[in-house]
Amino acid sequence: MEILSEIQSEIMRNKRSRNFNVDDIAIELMCMVEEFGEFSSEYLSSNRAPRGEINNKDKLLDEIADVLIYAISICDILGEDALRVIKKKVEYNKTRTHKRF
Ligand SMILES: [Mg+2]
Repeated sequence: MEILSEIQSEIMRNKRSRNFNVDDIAIELMCMVEEFGEFSSEYLSSNRAPRGEINNKDKLLDEIADVLIYAISICDILGEDALRVIKKKVEYNKTRTHKRF
């Protein structure tokens, strides 16, 4: 379970070694939005089949990974462990109520 913390460290280590951004949230946010766009584009070019039957699953998962990497990076820039952030939100989601649209 603690492996996400190790991945967070690896993401930031890779960024530093390649002189990528490691302290500007705005840059990370813009990159994450760009990756969301790539995910959306991949989905729109798929057969849009239901779960398990989509024709470009690998490409979709690749773009999801890009989004997650930027989200984890932003956690790191904020000085937080992404695993702790997610655990906290998952626990909160168990108790919250949702309004229907
Ligand atoms: Mg991408």
